[in-house]
Amino acid sequence: MDLAAVEADLTEVLISEEEIKAKIAELARQIEADYTDDDDVLLVGVLKGAVMVMADLARELKLHLTMDWMAVSSYGSGTQSSGVVRILKDLDTDLTGRKVLIVEDIIDSGLTLSWLRANLESRGAESVEICAFLRKPEAAKVQVDCKYVGFEIPNAFVVGYGLDYAERYRNLAGIGVLAPHVYENAEA
Ligand code: 5GP
Repeated sequence: MDLAAVEADLTEVLISEEEIKAKIAELARQIEADYTDDDDVLLVGVLKGAVMVMADLARELKLHLTMDWMAVSSYGSGTQSSGVVRILKDLDTDLTGRKVLIVEDIIDSGLTLSWLRANLESRGAESVEICAFLRKPEAAKVQVDCKYVGFEIPNAFVVGYGLDYAERYRNLAGIGVLAPHVYENAEA
């Protein structure tokens, strides 16, 4: 769905479909420079937000790779992350000796990703790197070494391209800032 279709729910269009496509290609070239086919890199997508990034990035990469998925939930709801993480769906893959690249939609506080990286490292992976499509300024305050970053964005609640509010807007082709009236009405 086009961003224009939900114009009234957004205060700003942040990233267009075309800009997303160009950035995915840029990230793929960076990743290709760091791995070979022999690395048999495992892309770990974090459900559900990373579905779009994962699908586009994996198809853009000129590399033999495998893909697996995890679903995690940080306790709490609405627009704030609590930092207490719980695994809802675990990987099917044994990570021993694997080169893992976590694919994430967004880093906000960084709490989810720092927990996830430590968790995957503890399973014997040879390396664990992170590719986050969006990064908010808060993330700079915590020690999350994110090797591949798409866009640095302002500290606002964004939706689209996999990112939801109350499970909606994930199918928007671009990324926009959600208008406060949408969640203020829902939480009232
Ligand atoms: P962190 O642990 O880095 O604070 O939060 C990461 C998770 O919070 C993301 O994977 C995402 O699910 C959610 N999140 C953080 N910021 C946003 C945002 O602006 N929009 C949406 N839709 N989700 C967000």
